[in-house]
Amino acid sequence: ATPMAVLTSTGRGAELGLFIKGARALESTRAVDTVLFDKTGTLTEGRMHVSAVVPVDGVPAEELLRLAASVEQGSEHPIGAGIVAAASSTADVDDFTALPGRGVTGTVDGRCVAVGTARMLADTAVELPAELVRRGAALEATCATVVGVVADDRLLGLVALTDEPRPSAPTAISTLRAIGLVPRMLTGDNLRTAVAVAARVGLDPATEVTADASPEDKVAAVRALQAAGHTVALVGDGINDAAALAAADLGIAVGRGTDAAIDAADIVLGRDDLTAVAAAVELARRTHRTIR
Ligand code: ADP
Ligand code: MG
Repeated sequence: ATPMAVLTSTGRGAELGLFIKGARALESTRAVDTVLFDKTGTLTEGRMHVSAVVPVDGVPAEELLRLAASVEQGSEHPIGAGIVAAASSTADVDDFTALPGRGVTGTVDGRCVAVGTARMLADTAVELPAELVRRGAALEATCATVVGVVADDRLLGLVALTDEPRPSAPTAISTLRAIGLVPRMLTGDNLRTAVAVAARVGLDPATEVTADASPEDKVAAVRALQAAGHTVALVGDGINDAAALAAADLGIAVGRGTDAAIDAADIVLGRDDLTAVAAAVELARRTHRTIR
């Protein structure tokens, strides 16, 4: 690449709200044929609001939210901010631990509290009553993300959070298809929620969604596509995406994402506009023609 063509392109990129980290990023962008999107905070706004609290019998909803929010205070995940905003009070937390793609744990009022996915809860001694499983599944089918709250190995209930798709997501996906790329969702959230969101942004829920992916699973998904001969871009925002952003041929971080994602990425989207992904590919293709 001639320095001048690259400079012009990175300048044009800046106008599109793209921060492109160097000439190699442009080269990878040109070759991309598959674009994997994280869900929470990437295809969606990442502004989660509590839409339902489902306590088990005898637990006040306020107490459920207070314990959950006390632990979530330390979280960088949109789920944490949503739960903290919904609680009217919080207590101090000790021994806070974030388990990316799974949840958070900590000690509150001397009790060991965990908030996270059904899979994380399955690893604890906790049993989920059938009625709660049914209500959780019904909430997930409406696009909500459902987390369980456990204190001292006892399930206190579920919290459902909703998050709107970004307005630019459907156009971003249809534009990628129009220029010959394959878009997909790669999320740590559960399949029911993932499928419901996929349908709203124009992804095929049957063939273009991979859910329940841990941070390691996201890396494995990138590598599997690469092994099949694809050049893969991953668009993400979270700590849970950082390793996969680095593994991808092209890592694209959402500008308001976590520092870990921004550091690992080759391109940062300065605006919340996902159509910039297709614009970056078109820009890179044009830059290549200029250079040739
Ligand atoms: P995504 O890939 O959609 O951004 P993540 O990998 O960040 O999702 O998270 C996957 C799942 O892990 C979430 O849907 C949630 O169930 C759980 N999780 C992650 N962080 C938290 C948290 N701070 N509190 C509760 N649950 C969490
Ligand atoms: Mg995310």
